Amino acid sequence: MRSFTYERVDSVAEATAAFSRTRGARFIAGGTNLLDLMKLEIETPAHLIDVSRLGLNKIEPTSDGGLRIGAMVRNTDLATDPRVRKDYALLSRALVAGASGQLRNKATTAGNLLQRTRCPYFYDTNQPCNKRRPGSGCAALDGFSRLHAVVGASEACIATHPSDMAVAMRALDAVVETVDPAGKARSIPLDGLYRAPGDTPHLETVLAPGELITAVTLPKPVGGTHIYHKVRDRASYAFALISVGAIVQPDGSGRVAVGGVGYKPWRVESAESALPRGAKTFTAGLLAGAKPTRENAYKLPLVERTIQSVLIQAKG
Ligand code: SF4
Repeated sequence: MRSFTYERVDSVAEATAAFSRTRGARFIAGGTNLLDLMKLEIETPAHLIDVSRLGLNKIEPTSDGGLRIGAMVRNTDLATDPRVRKDYALLSRALVAGASGQLRNKATTAGNLLQRTRCPYFYDTNQPCNKRRPGSGCAALDGFSRLHAVVGASEACIATHPSDMAVAMRALDAVVETVDPAGKARSIPLDGLYRAPGDTPHLETVLAPGELITAVTLPKPVGGTHIYHKVRDRASYAFALISVGAIVQPDGSGRVAVGGVGYKPWRVESAESALPRGAKTFTAGLLAGAKPTRENAYKLPLVERTIQSVLIQAKG
């Protein structure tokens, strides 16, 4: 690991100001992904700004009946909050399906959304990787691609986003709140947070340099049956091959977001009208235009079968 400097700040304004005055700065909170990346010298920040004590660790009701989750709320605290368990059970279930107990105790809401891909070539600095070193190529295209994306990928990168929590938040229509170094706040629907890889897979979100996530808001609860079904190589502490986050209403309508298939949680609202007609029809719309590799073509029928299983579970 290369040497770096560190400071702890007490307010959002201090955090963004510290970012502006220091070249090569990064925010750090739980550090469950960033520190691993620093040890491997995949990320080499010159300065760390500790934003874990900004008071952004509260879960509060919003005036329209929703919930505002502070950016630094730990994953364990979010998963076990009684309001989340009662009204946003999908989120609670997705959280406990992720990582390990120790990691969930440290990892934060914002950090979970911003965690980086687990593509093995991204972590192997001997391999070409456009995301790690722009213009160097993509080792996954002709390599081990069993875990990679089937939708939304490009010739430059076929990585997936690894978060379970983000899949649930996408189905729940979460909105990300941010503040930039000029003090300007904005709200970004979760689906708009992530950039398609295109020719620039190293640019993963629409956040500007120094723009800090302060909270994630959830609209008022929509009821229904909440199911998170994660398919993985072992029963715990493994990233999803695919995952399905679903909210199904008694009449068979609902929302479905899928993880492990693209650079972001994959949800196609226009396809959801087909959900009552069954998993096959719905999946055809959800994964329209999919371009799997030889190694990950299995994901297409796996998504359909998992959605089928979720719909059966939802019927009780
Ligand atoms: Fe890098 Fe993306 Fe290719 Fe993986 S899929 S090697 S992250 S460019």
